[in-house]
Amino acid sequence: MSTLPRTPERRTGNTDRLPGTPGGTGMPPSRNSRFARHGLAGWFLLLVLAPLLVAAETPARITRDTTYLPLAPQTTYLHDTGGAATLDQAHRLLDDGRFDPLPNGDASFGFQTGAFWFHVRVTNENPREQRWLLVQQYALSDHIDVYARYSDGRIVHHAGGDAFPFEQRSIRYRHPNFWLDLPTGEEVDLLVRVQSQSSMQVPLFLYTPAAFAELSRDGQLGIGIYYGILLALFFYNLVLWLVLRDGSYFWYLFHISAFGLVLFTLNGLGFEYLWPHSTWLADKSVPLSVCLAQIGMQQFSRTFLDLNTRWRLGDRISKGIIAFFVLLGIAATQLPYHVATPIASAAVFPSIVWIAVITLMVVRTGYRPAKVFLLAWAMFLLGTGIFVALAFGLLPKTFITEYGVQIGSALEMLLLSVALGYRYAALRNENERIVRDAKNSLEAQVIERTGELRQAMSELESAHHRLRESSRLDGLTDLYNRTHFREAFEHLLSQSRNSQRPISLLMIDLDHFKRINDTYGHLVGDDCLRCTSNTLAETLRPHGALLARFGGEEFIAALPGMSLGEASVVAEELRQALRAQPCRSGDLEIAVSASIGVHCVDLEARDSLESALQVADQALYAAKAEGRDCVRTL
Ligand code: GH3
Ligand code: MG
Ligand code: MG
Repeated sequence: MSTLPRTPERRTGNTDRLPGTPGGTGMPPSRNSRFARHGLAGWFLLLVLAPLLVAAETPARITRDTTYLPLAPQTTYLHDTGGAATLDQAHRLLDDGRFDPLPNGDASFGFQTGAFWFHVRVTNENPREQRWLLVQQYALSDHIDVYARYSDGRIVHHAGGDAFPFEQRSIRYRHPNFWLDLPTGEEVDLLVRVQSQSSMQVPLFLYTPAAFAELSRDGQLGIGIYYGILLALFFYNLVLWLVLRDGSYFWYLFHISAFGLVLFTLNGLGFEYLWPHSTWLADKSVPLSVCLAQIGMQQFSRTFLDLNTRWRLGDRISKGIIAFFVLLGIAATQLPYHVATPIASAAVFPSIVWIAVITLMVVRTGYRPAKVFLLAWAMFLLGTGIFVALAFGLLPKTFITEYGVQIGSALEMLLLSVALGYRYAALRNENERIVRDAKNSLEAQVIERTGELRQAMSELESAHHRLRESSRLDGLTDLYNRTHFREAFEHLLSQSRNSQRPISLLMIDLDHFKRINDTYGHLVGDDCLRCTSNTLAETLRPHGALLARFGGEEFIAALPGMSLGEASVVAEELRQALRAQPCRSGDLEIAVSASIGVHCVDLEARDSLESALQVADQALYAAKAEGRDCVRTL
């Protein structure tokens, strides 16, 4: 705090550069003499403007019951476009009547160059409160100089704004504030100079310490609720992101953090809590946080809506918007505030509209989570719209309209969180459907493959059966071969032993077969062998005999259950059958005869196959020896 005005050397500007009227207000010069010179019209205007002029010259009165007082109605202002006027010059201009009432009683001028001077006289008629807090209820002003001039000519100077470290404030509060001594009954002349790259908004209020405590308490509670909701959503979704690792959750966190940062910055909490020592950041945080919030919004929308698969062109445009905000964010670190912030603020509107466009496009593709997303976005736009309508005076100032942005954005964040859950559930259902389909098709495939496998197995088995069968058969005659005969005969033998039923053997050898070969050739000989085999098989079949080709033109038959006599009868039947059926080969008819040795196996003597065969063979020899074409036993 200083009791000296700013040094005149720093304020060497020419007062001629000061305009008589503020730009855009359409307000005529305020000196009464000018109106007098304009005759009736002047009088008429004076009549209309008189309340304003009177108000401007009337001191702001603190009555006995006043606990807080908005100063705007009694405030006049001067726009020092060069920003160089000194305190003395400002006082002179004030005395010259160059200060004008606030347009519509509102100290909001948007982005401006130079400095603004505000003047108000205050009289305190409250004997209990001598110490008042002057609060500038806009957080982002860079330089604020308050000059309080007392009746004794003493001037007390306070400097503040976010160009000064936060702890220099009279009270550690998000809006700049200054303690003022307002002695009872004394008129104090307040001149406030504001110079800022941010929007020129200077709503000045006086508070008693108690009223200020109440104001800040209510304000902090509202802010606490709002950021509490944001924080709860942040941590809830942070946990979900850590568990699910879904990119959408990350960008939701980015979006909610950056958006929270924008509001945190705009209402002065960023400077109060996050960077109280960095006046550089206090200056750059608005455009930077706006850019970050837009990057987060766009990126979150892209990933949530799966834009690159649903709308390629839209996705490219979104990426372009993100690139724009990245570049603007980088540039904002170098550009002056009054250049970067209006660009960033102006770009927010098309960016938000674009998100509504892509959401509508994706809703049209039938993607259901996009509907919840659209609803969330509508909440945000509605809240912001209500706030803007309030700013333009279209809606009355109520809790809902004043905090439209906060309510809308809190609802938006909440609904977006719901939308994320909905999207996750949709993804999970889709995954489950895919897994189920895959399982079904896998099962069908397994059934099909099992059928094929069974088929192959049975084919293999029958092939194996055929192979085994063919390994037991003689290739020329299709009778069993000697190997199979041995096995099958062992089996029959043990059955006969068990049942004590006889079993006989027939050893059959074709007579002079060599001659047939020699006479007609081997092929005809083969035909004769096949023909003979058929006759043998047909004749023996009714007797349940086991017949095999023993080798060359020799055959063997086992007759289970037959005694030597019975077997001899069958042998004779065979011999006659062969005689009766000459073999055909082409046009030839060849007579065939056979010699047959018969032997009944001695079950008691435990005859082996070999010995039984030997005996049957000897009987065969006997048949050969006795002239062939006959049946013999030993
Ligand atoms: P025997 O009355 O003393 O039995 O005189 P054989 O000529 O029948 O007997 P041998 O043992 O001298 O000759 C058997 C002949 O059978 C010799 C061989 O050429 C013929 N042979 C053996 N296996 C086959 C065959 O698979 N096909 C043909 N075409 N001939 C065969
Ligand atoms: Mg032979
Ligand atoms: Mg022979």
